[in-house]
Amino acid sequence: MSIQVFGLPISRGVAIGRAVLVASSRVDVAHYYIDESRVPTEVDRLRQARDKVATELSTLKRELPAEAPAELPALLDVHLMLLHDEALTGATKNWIEMRHYNAEWALSAQLEVMARQFDEMDDDYLRERKADLEQVVERMLRALSKAEPLVSPSAATAGHGGEDPLVLVANDIAPADMLQFKGSVFSGFVTDVGGKTSHTAIVARSMDIPAVVGAREASRLIRQDDWVVIDGDAGVVVVDPSPIVLEEYRFRQRQSELERARLHRLRHTPSVTLDGEPVELLANIELPRDAPVALESGAVGIGLFRSEFLFMNRNGNLPSEDEQFTAYRGVVETMHGLPVTIRTVDIGVDKPLDRLTIHELRHEHVLNPALGLRAIRWSLSEPAMFRQQLRAILRASAFGKVRVLLPMVAQLSEIRLAREALGRAKQQLMDAGLAFNEVELGAMIEIPAAVLILPSMLRHLDFVSIGTNDLIQYTLAIDRADEAVAPLYDPWHPAVLQLIARTIELSRQAGKHVSVCGEMAGDPAFTELLLAMGLRSFSMHPAQIASVKQRVLRTEVKKLAAGLARALQSDDPMQTWAAARETREPPRDMGLEAP
Ligand code: PEP
Ligand code: MG
Repeated sequence: MSIQVFGLPISRGVAIGRAVLVASSRVDVAHYYIDESRVPTEVDRLRQARDKVATELSTLKRELPAEAPAELPALLDVHLMLLHDEALTGATKNWIEMRHYNAEWALSAQLEVMARQFDEMDDDYLRERKADLEQVVERMLRALSKAEPLVSPSAATAGHGGEDPLVLVANDIAPADMLQFKGSVFSGFVTDVGGKTSHTAIVARSMDIPAVVGAREASRLIRQDDWVVIDGDAGVVVVDPSPIVLEEYRFRQRQSELERARLHRLRHTPSVTLDGEPVELLANIELPRDAPVALESGAVGIGLFRSEFLFMNRNGNLPSEDEQFTAYRGVVETMHGLPVTIRTVDIGVDKPLDRLTIHELRHEHVLNPALGLRAIRWSLSEPAMFRQQLRAILRASAFGKVRVLLPMVAQLSEIRLAREALGRAKQQLMDAGLAFNEVELGAMIEIPAAVLILPSMLRHLDFVSIGTNDLIQYTLAIDRADEAVAPLYDPWHPAVLQLIARTIELSRQAGKHVSVCGEMAGDPAFTELLLAMGLRSFSMHPAQIASVKQRVLRTEVKKLAAGLARALQSDDPMQTWAAARETREPPRDMGLEAP
């Protein structure tokens, strides 16, 4: 029977596919299709892994010391029994044969099916056997990882046609793990947790495929291999849709693809309002490999390079100066002289250094990570690491136009200390005879305190960039990653709009470049409002540039002033702004529609 699950819409469009359930601890299992001809060999890999684990377990049992607890041999027997259970090995083989999944993927798919069956058991003893099953599967996955994969995952997934499309369903996925799904087999995502501007959602959005987060029960209600529709516009997930519903969504899917193709044609059109105001549209990127996509989308520079993604999932080993330099230089060279704004590492809260620490950060060691040692605070508390990053950025500046952006600045002293660190980094490079260019230093404005002392801050900065994602979180005291308070996370809140308007106005008065790089910049619902506030630089995911540009092309800025004044004084700015919009002359069609 068809069911609907409601969540938060993350990115445009509709995805229709079979569900692949993935537990967050298993997201790094390789997911790729194998050719028909490879099926027997892949089944053989599975068999070899099972035999290897069987030998391991039997040896363990045989060599148990005499003083080992009496339950241990019995436990190993349970593991051996599970290992040979037809429900595990037989069904896993089916995933390989019927769906052409690689062995690791097939095994984890079957584990999700069986884990759920265990969860539903009434008997406590049996329910607890799920942990044993997970251990057995972990062992098999380890055994498989030691055996060389038969085909390289990227080669296998690329260009494999003829299979059903797949959508990924998970309780939660860490942002760094989400990154590894870029360009993967999945055509849509659903997660149970997360807010609209959680970093997982941001990475999902940057992948430009339909996604819904905060869908609460989704991973419990959806079964492995179910047909699922993900409506990324409405935030709805339809499980096992009826033929008529499916047909409707297929129609919408085609419409949305046509719309995308139409918008894509705008990419080389200069971004200028109807009354001739040029508007800079920049790209947000997470990794160097996103830079070519940014260029292709028509971005005139990188407004936010979230450098922390280079630091994640490295088991505590931070990237070396040379490694960082290579990454930054790669982006700078790709952009061919267009500006590249590199944000110094903004680690913390939902962006942990590695996967395991996310739970620790949230629940154990740090009382309130969103207010803790994160972003610029962390950088200043690790001076050697910070200088190393600054040296790498400075060295990349020898290859183009680079700006340094400091995250989460709240104190003047943070800017002063960062400038000193930059000075020392330059000196070290000069001593070493390494080349660099002058770089501008800017700050993210994402804490209300920074807005309140902005005139003082601006005296020490070359530019600012408004991080609306955190600005909303810290102004309204709403955790941006918590779906339970998602309805209160409101970019239209009068306090938020007043802080943004004030930042833009004060920066312009001081003659300092101001941009918005939070998610509001890429949402066409806010384009006119931000233009009315005087914003002329927007930074967003490459996939959003065309729709924002379309709005820019249709806007006559000088007509917006009266509506803005009213909206900023209103108790309900969204409604006031919409009403003002309706009373304005409908824009004339100047032939600016994409052909
Ligand atoms: C923001 O806070 O708006 C921002 C752009 O930074 P991040 O989303 O990485 O915190
Ligand atoms: Mg931020």
